[in-house]
Amino acid sequence: MQIFSKSEALKDWRNLQKKDIGFVPTMGALHDGHLSLIRKAKKENDLVICSIFVNPTQFNNQNDLKKYPRNTHADKLLLEKEDCDILFIPDTNDMYPDELKSEDYDFGDLERIMEAKFRPGHFQGVATVVHKFFDLIKPTRAYFGEKDFQQLQVIRSLVKQKDLEVEIVACPTAREKNGLARSSRNERLDPKQREKASIIYRSLLQARDNHSEQSLGSTIHNIEAEFNKLIDVELEYVQFVDESSLSSLEKWNDAEHVRGFIAAYFGEVRLIDNLLIF
Ligand code: AMP
Repeated sequence: MQIFSKSEALKDWRNLQKKDIGFVPTMGALHDGHLSLIRKAKKENDLVICSIFVNPTQFNNQNDLKKYPRNTHADKLLLEKEDCDILFIPDTNDMYPDELKSEDYDFGDLERIMEAKFRPGHFQGVATVVHKFFDLIKPTRAYFGEKDFQQLQVIRSLVKQKDLEVEIVACPTAREKNGLARSSRNERLDPKQREKASIIYRSLLQARDNHSEQSLGSTIHNIEAEFNKLIDVELEYVQFVDESSLSSLEKWNDAEHVRGFIAAYFGEVRLIDNLLIF
């Protein structure tokens, strides 16, 4: 695996390539979810580039940024094992040579709901760094997890608005044995919190399995009640939305396809997940 830490060097390398390039942007502390994206990219492209960059502009909470897990040595070994071709691991000055600031994008309602509402500026930061990566790497395909479904829609919107020549590939969510979606932040959970956190997926599964007998209102009410029973756990939001627009619903029948989303704190660790309901 070749490692680049400077974007200029990566750009020079890229300009010599004629092959299909699959790109997997990450913030490191790699787990099986990330590796499933790398594997898919390996199957579908001649060369795969993975980036590891903990992007400061997408963190609205400085404590979260400071405590974000960083395991560069272990990450390199995992990527070698997956036969990843290129690792791009820039520093903040390289990605933001002028000022540490997001661009100004208009993502409409995507910017006002769920993750955007509770993490102001988050998607502006994500779009800024992904746009920089796309300009630099010019990937044929870029791989994003459905785990961050709203992010996936933001990236699709970015590509459409800026007319970027890259195919966005959505990848299914990898889970731990108890159903908890794999996340770098899971490393910060103690064993009890990790067990409690399985409530997220369980709630979404129950909503999926019972939606034909249970109204949208009582589904939400039951989930809130289950979360309320847990100590040191705080449900930030549970929402069921139209899968294509992510707009909210009053009843199940308001959309052809519905996806459920949950964000919750386990101690000070914030986790998110989502599931297609129908
Ligand atoms: P992150 O390092 O959290 O920025 O994630 C990098 C990419 O991996 C994003 O496209 C995520 O959606 C994806 N990802 C993170 N966790 C998972 C998971 N459990 N399953 C599938 N993809 C994931």
